[in-house]
Amino acid sequence: MSPLFATTRNKVSSRRAVLNLAAGTLWYAPGSFRIARMFGPRYSLRCVLFHDVSDTESSFTRGLGGTITRKNFEAALKFITNHYTPVGLQDVIADSDGRALPPRPVLVTFDDAYASVSGFAAPLCSTLGVPAVFFVNGECLDNRRLALDNLVCYVANVCGMGTINAAAQAACGTHDIDLGSLAQVFSHFLPTISLHAREVFRSSLVELARISEGDLAAEAGLYLSSQQLRDLAAFNFEIGDHTYTHTSCRSLSVEEVADEIDRNKAMLEAVSGRKVRSFSVPYGSSADLTTNLVAHLHRSGYEAVFLAEGCANSLRAHRSRLDRVSIKASSDSALFSEIEVLPRLRTLRNWVLDSTNFGTHGKNSDLRKTRSGTLQCAPEKGAGISGERN
Ligand SMILES: [Zn+2]
Repeated sequence: MSPLFATTRNKVSSRRAVLNLAAGTLWYAPGSFRIARMFGPRYSLRCVLFHDVSDTESSFTRGLGGTITRKNFEAALKFITNHYTPVGLQDVIADSDGRALPPRPVLVTFDDAYASVSGFAAPLCSTLGVPAVFFVNGECLDNRRLALDNLVCYVANVCGMGTINAAAQAACGTHDIDLGSLAQVFSHFLPTISLHAREVFRSSLVELARISEGDLAAEAGLYLSSQQLRDLAAFNFEIGDHTYTHTSCRSLSVEEVADEIDRNKAMLEAVSGRKVRSFSVPYGSSADLTTNLVAHLHRSGYEAVFLAEGCANSLRAHRSRLDRVSIKASSDSALFSEIEVLPRLRTLRNWVLDSTNFGTHGKNSDLRKTRSGTLQCAPEKGAGISGERN
């Protein structure tokens, strides 16, 4: 790992560790769940998010912050089954007024269709009776192509940030770009460029790093195969849409939004034989939930839409905007902090910022920024109270 990645990740990890330690101490207090309610609004559906479930990170995932070990995943799932009530997507959809769900409901979700979820995570969910939703990008199915995030990660780990910057400069036709970390690539650069510029960025990465993309994708074997997807569906797991190419939606035209979503839905339904009725916003930021995207999802009959900003879903939370929290912790106290305390604190922070007109969170401010095309910052992956990404 380059010192740059190490610095960025260490800062995020340290901040998260300190917050988890502080909030996690509540776990040992009598009536910990009751005490947690003092930190914010009535918390209804807890949605948790996982990506890669693997004991080791590879060049394709090191620096993304989306890998959890099998031991930690198992600890998280057992914490959920011991202290919450796992629910399925159908339960969430059927809960029309936010009051029909059981006490402390939790919905488990997985983004990005890593093959690692098929071998360990899904069977464990099955064994423990935990329903789950798997959000898939059709482009990566059967390892035909790498997701851009994994390609960026690989090039950064193997060739360094210099190659990333050279490709970014080629994509934007300017030398006035200086990306210092993977977090900046995913949070600042990719969300603001067009679909065409993303493709130029991708092809420049491939050319500069001298990669055969198809061979590398097949060799890495990162993602689910069609058969594994069918197996998940056969075990009654829900299959959801995550766009065809895992693209940030805020810069897409109406036609591009429709193509990314419809193409993916058609492919996933054809392969899995199951209706796709939920959508996870790539990168998880509400800034990507644009008017165009919302309108298209509504027209296409999607029944639930998920973000990943790590806030608490109140009783009145609408299914078209359900937030999720990325799980990294392994101990009960840290999991309590991640699921029960920090989402409330983020919600409270956003409410305070919005109500004092200094905030940049909340639907209205996000949509306003999107329309104006201002450079936006998606929440940083794995950050403590600052937010989540997927
Ligand atoms: Zn994703």
